[in-house]
Amino acid sequence: MTDCIFCKIAQHEIPSTVVYEDDLVIAFDDLNPQAPVHTLVIPKEHYENAIDGVPAETLAAMMHAVSEVARIKGLDDGFRLISNKGEAAGQTVMHFHMHVLGGKPLGEGLI
Ligand code: AMP
Ligand code: ZN
Repeated sequence: MTDCIFCKIAQHEIPSTVVYEDDLVIAFDDLNPQAPVHTLVIPKEHYENAIDGVPAETLAAMMHAVSEVARIKGLDDGFRLISNKGEAAGQTVMHFHMHVLGGKPLGEGLI
């Protein structure tokens, strides 16, 4: 996707604060953090959302990246994992991403 900001981050064409990277995925800090730790995990290939035919290998790599983010950021006490699908859910960047949120008690409510 030529005009996708997360594709450009994945290709290092625009800067980001990279937390973890491998062949399939990259994790970087959110520009507008909603918690002390707010890191995004994305596939390097473009998929619109979590159910847009993402290969199992890529999904597994993303979960591995989540565990690496949790380790690197010291989220031993826990974290919240969110992925918005579609405008009704508040998805603003149409490249599949998972939010890893933590670094403070987040409470019991989901939203
Ligand atoms: P969503 O609303 O689930 O689509 O989340 C998109 C997220 O991407 C928001 O939390 C934004 O703050 C974040 N975001 C947008 N552009 C950038 C960027 N260039 N670098 C880091 N995070 C970004
Ligand atoms: Zn993209």
